[in-house]
Amino acid sequence: MATSPTTVTITGAGGQIGYALLFRIAAGDMLGPDRPVRLRLLEIPQGLRSAEGAALELQDCAFPLLEDVEVTDDPRTAFEGCSVGLLVGARPRGPGMERADLLAANAGIFGPQGEAIGEAAASDVRVVVVGNPANTNALLASARAGAVPADRFTALTRLDHNRAVAQLIEALDVRADEIEGVAIWGNHSATQFPDVSHATARGVPVVDALAERLGGRDAAIDWLDESFVPRVAKRGAEIIEVRGSSSVASAANAAIEHVRDEQAGTGPRWTSAAVVSRGEYGVPEGLVCSFPVTSGGSGYRVVEGLDLDDRSRARFEASVAELVAERDAVRALGVL
Ligand code: NDP
Repeated sequence: MATSPTTVTITGAGGQIGYALLFRIAAGDMLGPDRPVRLRLLEIPQGLRSAEGAALELQDCAFPLLEDVEVTDDPRTAFEGCSVGLLVGARPRGPGMERADLLAANAGIFGPQGEAIGEAAASDVRVVVVGNPANTNALLASARAGAVPADRFTALTRLDHNRAVAQLIEALDVRADEIEGVAIWGNHSATQFPDVSHATARGVPVVDALAERLGGRDAAIDWLDESFVPRVAKRGAEIIEVRGSSSVASAANAAIEHVRDEQAGTGPRWTSAAVVSRGEYGVPEGLVCSFPVTSGGSGYRVVEGLDLDDRSRARFEASVAELVAERDAVRALGVL
């Protein structure tokens, strides 16, 4: 077992997703069975009691890998020595709240957290933003993180990716590990583009496999356009309608898989993550945009050189336009 523990900081740790994350991280699901962890739980003052309660329960689990838990409302303390940051706490959209208000409220959260990461985190820090609007919150935090390289900041689209895979499992009656090449492009929002044009199921192009089941290529394209894409993009609303509250365990699971694959490597299989654009596929440099990605164990890299047909490109560009508008709105606030 490695001797020195890895410091993992979770913001909004007293919330629902936080509660679903903490025990799995402490059990070793995220960093593996040979890496002890030290947990730092950041909350706003009104969330501290909930986080403290979770810390008591963590203690009662007596996890062999869990070295220490600290609960704080001070970002500087929370990010001291942090190697893995999961930024979950965010300001939800309230009734009548305009997008600019939402972006401004979140700038007040993610800007100071970025600064604290720049001042206090470990030199190997990597951060994933879960709290929405996740892509733009990641952009903001990275812009304020001083000398920390911007590409250490990513945002979560793994849940969208997993939801897309889950739809294909159901439609094609295959297992998850038999599906490859799914991609989520763009923003983690309703404009995202879940793309199966490079995907295969048991080695057969997904579009061909769907055509075989649904009675032709046109029927397959109709299903993708009218059922698959909107269902993936609006799955969060579907869960709220059925469950009575938003998705929690699946969001936490996706965050754990995002970090695990970034750190342990994906091998040749793709996943999806929102990463800082270096201009890939014409996306403006610096935007935090979802792409198909792989990791060799030291950060995600965009899978380059994929052909996108005109329809796919138009969908992707619409989502990128939304990211540009969010970035410009944050710039107009003077916080970027
Ligand atoms: P959740 O734990 O359910 O959600 C937290 C964030 O994750 C929300 O912004 C939510 O966005 C986002 N999210 C991203 N993907 C998903 C998904 N698939 N399903 C659901 N949510 C998703 O919220 P809670 O209200 O239970 O907890 C939030 C906690 O954060 C509270 O304890 C609060 O006190 C704390 N907080 C901490 C801050 C800090 O540390 N500085 C700042 C603000 C809040 P969306 O709203 O779009 O659903």
